[in-house]
Amino acid sequence: MNKTFIGMIAAASFFSACNQQTPKETPKQDMLLADLDTTVKPGEDFFQYANGGWIKNHPIPGDEIAYGIGELVQKELYVKLKTINEEALKKGDKTGAGQRIGDFWYSAMDTNAIEKEGAQPLREELSKIAGMNTKEDVMAQAAHMHSYGANVFFDEGVTQDPKHSDVEAYTMTQGGLGMPNRDYYFNTDARTAKIRSLYPGYIATLFRLLGSDSIEANKKAANIVALETALAKSSRKLEDLRDPYSNYNKFSIAKLRSALSPGIEWPKYLEQMGVKHVDSVIVGQPEFYKALDKVIAGTDMQTLKDYMAFHLVATFANYLSTPFEQANFNFYSKAIRGAEVEHPRWRRALDAEEGAIGEELGQLFVKEYFNATAKARYEQIVENVRNAYKARIEKLDWMTDTTKQKAIHKLMAIKKKVGYPDKWKDFSALKIDRGPYALNMMRANEWWNNYEMSKLGKPVNRDEWSMTPQTYNAYYNESNNEIVLPAAMMTVPGFKDADLDDALVYGYTAASTVGHEITHGFDDEGRKFDEQGNLASWWSSTDTAQFMKRAEILSGQFNKMVPIDTLHINGKATLGENLADLGGILIGLDAFKQTETYKKGEKINGMTPLQRFFLGYSLGWLLAERPEKVATQLLTDVHAPAKYRVNGPFPNVPEFYEAFGIKPGDKMYLPDSLRVHLW
Ligand SMILES: [Zn+2]
Repeated sequence: MNKTFIGMIAAASFFSACNQQTPKETPKQDMLLADLDTTVKPGEDFFQYANGGWIKNHPIPGDEIAYGIGELVQKELYVKLKTINEEALKKGDKTGAGQRIGDFWYSAMDTNAIEKEGAQPLREELSKIAGMNTKEDVMAQAAHMHSYGANVFFDEGVTQDPKHSDVEAYTMTQGGLGMPNRDYYFNTDARTAKIRSLYPGYIATLFRLLGSDSIEANKKAANIVALETALAKSSRKLEDLRDPYSNYNKFSIAKLRSALSPGIEWPKYLEQMGVKHVDSVIVGQPEFYKALDKVIAGTDMQTLKDYMAFHLVATFANYLSTPFEQANFNFYSKAIRGAEVEHPRWRRALDAEEGAIGEELGQLFVKEYFNATAKARYEQIVENVRNAYKARIEKLDWMTDTTKQKAIHKLMAIKKKVGYPDKWKDFSALKIDRGPYALNMMRANEWWNNYEMSKLGKPVNRDEWSMTPQTYNAYYNESNNEIVLPAAMMTVPGFKDADLDDALVYGYTAASTVGHEITHGFDDEGRKFDEQGNLASWWSSTDTAQFMKRAEILSGQFNKMVPIDTLHINGKATLGENLADLGGILIGLDAFKQTETYKKGEKINGMTPLQRFFLGYSLGWLLAERPEKVATQLLTDVHAPAKYRVNGPFPNVPEFYEAFGIKPGDKMYLPDSLRVHLW
C-alpha cells in the first residue's frame, strides 16, 4: 500500500516535469509499481490490479474519450509539435516543409478569418452540387468529391491486389454512411437507438447553418436518413468484412455496368477519378453496388443533392466556423463517443496536420525520441520473438509436418520495419497557404488521392509506411508479409529506452506489439495469405480444421464478456486481434525466457522477472475509456476494449498462474480443459 502511495506521488510530479523538458536524470520511480491497485488481487481482475492505481489517480480529462498510455506518449509530442509549428510560422520560410508547416498553422489558428467566413470556403463546391441536372452529373460530382476526401455513396482506394501482391489494384467497397456503420441504422439497444434518434437533428443543424428554415432542414434530414438506411441495409456486418475471399470480387471495368449497376457509367466515373493503367477493379461487396444502383435510380434529384451537400459539409465541418464545428463535435464526439468538451484549438489543429502532412512532422519526432541504439535493440527483439515462434511451431502436436514447414517458411520471410521509414514521402507538390483552413485540408486530401492513384500501373513500393513514426500503434500488412512498428509504440512516456528493464520491455513491446503483429500473419485471416503476401491456401484441410477448432474456443471466451450494459464482445469479429494478443504473449514470453534477466531471476522492486513481464504487457493497455466509447468500439472495432486485451488472454497462459499464484476459485482461473491450446 505504501509503495503504491509513494509511487503515485512520484508519478504525478514526474509527468508534469516531462511536459517542460526531457529529464536528464533517470527517473527513480518504477512505473509498474506506481500504476498498481493493490486493493484488487491479481487473480480477481488483473487489468485493475496492474493499472487501477494510475487510472484512479488520473480521471479522464473532459476533452478525452479515453485516457492512458497512448495519450501520455503523445502528450509530450503535442507540446513539442506546437512549438515547432509556432517557430516555423515565425521563421516564415517561403518554400519547403517549413513553409507548409508554418502556413498550415497560420490558417488553422486564424480564428478571425475562420469565423468571418462561415461556410464560404465550401460555396464553390456547394454550387457545383446545386447545379447538377442528371444522374450522370451525380456520378461526375461524386468522382470529384472522392478526389478531395468527401466519400459519398461508397468507399474506394488503391491497394495491393490480395491475390497478386505485386500489382496495385483499384478497390471499391461499401460506404456512404454518415453514422459509423450499418448497425447504427438498425440495432435496438438503448444506446444505439439514442444515437440514431439524434442523427436527423445533426443533419438538420448543418442545413439550417447553410440557410434552410427548420421545416426544410428537417425534411432534407429525413430523406438523407432514408437514403443512407437503404445503403446500410445492403452493407455487410463487421465480422463479415473479415473474410478475404468473400470480399474479393474482380470485375472487368467493361462489365461493371452489366454485372452490378446498369445505371452507373463506371468507365466514365473511373476515368474522372484518375484510375488509369488497369482494366479490372476489385469490388469488396457486389450486393452493395447492386443496391447503390437502385438507390441512385430511385431517389429524386433534390435528395441526392442534399445528401452530397451534407457529406461535403460534414467532412470539412471541423475546419469551418464554430457553429459547424460545434455541431460536428456534439454528434460525433459527444453523442457517439462520450467526450465532454473539445480539445483546445491548437490540439485539433495538430490532429488535422497529422492527417495532412504527418510524415513531415515524424522526421522531427524520431530525431528526438528514437535513436540508432533503440532501433537496433528492437530489431534484435523482433528476431528473438521470431525465433521463439519458430521453436513453438516446431513443437506443435496438432500441426502436420508439411504445414509446419510452410508456416516456418512464411514466418522467416516476414519483413520488419522498425521505428521510421528509410525514405520519407515528398510533400513538395502540396500547396498549403495561409487560408482558408478548409481548403488546405481539401488540397491535402487531393494530394493523398493523387499519391494513391499514381501507384496504379507501377511496381509495388514495398518500402512504404502506412503509419507515421509518432503513432502509438503498429500493423501487420498481409500483402507485404511485413510488420511495421512505429517508434512511438516502443516509447514509455518519460523514460529513456536504455533505462527500461528487459522484463518490462519484453511484456510492453516484444509481446504486446512485436509478437502480436507477427501472430497476425497466422490469425484466422492472415493465415490465408502465403509468404509472398498472396491470398492462397497453404494449409491442409486437417490443419485448418484443427486451427478452427482451437480458435473457436477463444471466440467463445470473448463472446461471453459483457463490457457494458447488455453489449457483449463480438468473438468472431475480434478473433484475429484476440489470437494475435494470445500468440504475442506466448512468443514474447518464450523470447524473454532466453534473456539473461530471466535466467538470473533477480527481483526488481520486489517483483520477479515473470511478474514484471505480465505487468509490462498490461502497461501497454493502460487505458481508461468512457462508456460511450466502449459501446462504439463494440460495434465498430475488431479490437476488444483495453481491459479485455489483458484479462481475456491471460487465463490461457500457464506462466500467468505461476507468476501470481492464481488458484481455482479465483475469477481469472480457467481449468486447463477450457484454455486455448493453439500455439
Ligand atoms: Zn492487431
